[in-house]
Amino acid sequence: MNGRRPGAVTGGRQRGRRGRGHLRRRPGHAVLAALLVVAAASGCAAEAGDTGTGQGAKLQAGQPGAPADAPAAGALGTRAAQAERAKLAQAARAVAAKKWGLASTPLAPPAPPAVKPHITTRKGFEVEGQDDSLPPVFTTVPTKDKVVFLTMDDGDDKDPELLKMMSELNIPYSAFLSDYLVRDNYTYFKDAEARGVTLNNHTLNHRYMPGLSYGEQKREICDQQNIIEKQFGKRPRLFRPPYGNYNTDTLKIAKSCGITAVPLWAEEAFPDHMEWREEDLDLHPGDIILTHFRGKKDWKGSMPDLIRSVMKTVTDKGYAVARLEDYV
Ligand SMILES: [Zn+2]
Repeated sequence: MNGRRPGAVTGGRQRGRRGRGHLRRRPGHAVLAALLVVAAASGCAAEAGDTGTGQGAKLQAGQPGAPADAPAAGALGTRAAQAERAKLAQAARAVAAKKWGLASTPLAPPAPPAVKPHITTRKGFEVEGQDDSLPPVFTTVPTKDKVVFLTMDDGDDKDPELLKMMSELNIPYSAFLSDYLVRDNYTYFKDAEARGVTLNNHTLNHRYMPGLSYGEQKREICDQQNIIEKQFGKRPRLFRPPYGNYNTDTLKIAKSCGITAVPLWAEEAFPDHMEWREEDLDLHPGDIILTHFRGKKDWKGSMPDLIRSVMKTVTDKGYAVARLEDYV
């Protein structure tokens, strides 16, 4: 089987309806700048990602508080300092939310789990000859935290406003890149990476994996591993097959060139609506939300419009956006 599920949301392009609104500029830029400086000084703003050897080398977007291995200054002092930093970070987020026209301030995620959850392949998403040593395929991360994860695919539209907006809002997200759309502007994604975005594998040319030979799939997946490592300095651990379609070869090949997990998605976000995989049409703890780097030429909304829309749903339902790589 290829992992396709009747009625499931897919990664295919969809028409957008009317885009809503535009960026409303508001006073308060100076306040925001000051708060961002304070938050950055106390380690709360987005920074370059870790060295690829695991978690925790540097703080990432959306992550409150100090690193777990910060020197102990007395438990009480540390806790007070962490609370103070979290407060400042949230104050900065509130100012940024006003500046960027969000309906409400995004909620702060809890501290990342000390131990990442054990993830298995979702029922119904197994491949022929399913082997539990293959990277798990899943749509929701097992957690009780009221968090969701934001993932952005392909890399077509490269709006500098998106990078700025997400940094100022301190909202983490992960990119899944197809080189054929990215190669004309690696600099944009280097900037994203420097702001804490992890760059993951979405193949070279966005082909339908089950329709390719073993050799062709290997080129699509493993050559993209090599390109991302060469261009951006880190070899991805996460892979998402185009359209969410895969077979046994896909997972074997992905594993052979360094992939440890295959996150699909539970919801797909558009500037004017959300498409839901589950029949309850609702978010769940650990849900992975898919969206795309697209612009007005694709869906009559800008990336800031998209973020305003998805964050309204997420915040109204009481969820925070956490960093996928902290859990997977
Ligand atoms: Zn895609």
